[in-house]
Amino acid sequence: VRARVMQVEESPDVSYTDIGGLDEQMNEVRETVEMPLLKPEMFEEVGIEPPSGVLLYGPPGTGKTMLAKAVASETDATFIKMAGSELVHKFIGEGAKLVRDLFEVARAHEPAVLFIDEIDAIASKRTDSKTSGDAEVQRTMMQLLSEMDGFEDRGEVRIIAATNRFDMLDRAILRPGRFDRLIEVPKPDEEGRKLIFEIHTRNMNVADDVDFGKLADEVIEASGADIKAICTEAGMFAIRDDRTEVCMDDFEEAWAKIQAEEEDDEISKT
Ligand code: ATP
Repeated sequence: VRARVMQVEESPDVSYTDIGGLDEQMNEVRETVEMPLLKPEMFEEVGIEPPSGVLLYGPPGTGKTMLAKAVASETDATFIKMAGSELVHKFIGEGAKLVRDLFEVARAHEPAVLFIDEIDAIASKRTDSKTSGDAEVQRTMMQLLSEMDGFEDRGEVRIIAATNRFDMLDRAILRPGRFDRLIEVPKPDEEGRKLIFEIHTRNMNVADDVDFGKLADEVIEASGADIKAICTEAGMFAIRDDRTEVCMDDFEEAWAKIQAEEEDDEISKT
């Protein structure tokens, strides 16, 4: 079961230079995650406890997972990822047991960054229905909080959670000593979009006519994940055309295609 739902990476292959347009967020993550891992004695000497949990929130595909991976990689920590939705189970006690397993694995791999994606799946505001399913989800959440509270030597395991649905969260998890560092990870601004284009084309054979500043200005609603998709799709356009150099038109057509697909998705959802 563990192997299926838990992702463990000894040293993920993501560095801070792979992330575009999130300098402020990166600094905050470093301060709260990297410092306690690399210099736990600083906190001891100063006499404060490092923040226990960091919550990253913002729209999908903006680099939340990347931030968590990068900080693990740059501190030589093991990256352990679990999706909140995987912790939701029908059988009583199963979710709580998974949470215990998760922390056990993290302790066994110290230093570790424990990343819980979609935390809203287990930490949404209580709904009205008093079904047993809800009670089970509640117990899973309580187990997570008690594992976090129970850390004697927290320096070696850092906890990062992420959500796209900040408004849905039960405020109880944001109390001091829990996820008490909130970091918003928004969609990139124009400068950020340009940087992300530059990052994802590092290994691409890009023609001289490609203007990343202009592209950044054109792809207004794009997330980092969208920009990555645009770059790959642009490369596909070149290949289909039997060219090995990717030109400006390829990027623009790729964006048009991806937007059309996203609109189709929206329509099929409604
Ligand atoms: P979700 O909420 O959907 O889990 P997320 O915020 O965790 O999304 P990531 O998984 O980090 O998003 O991003 C998906 C991919 O998009 C990354 O692997 C990366 O290639 C690209 N990407 C997203 N944001 C950025 C960014 N700021 N800089 C560079 N690449 C980015």
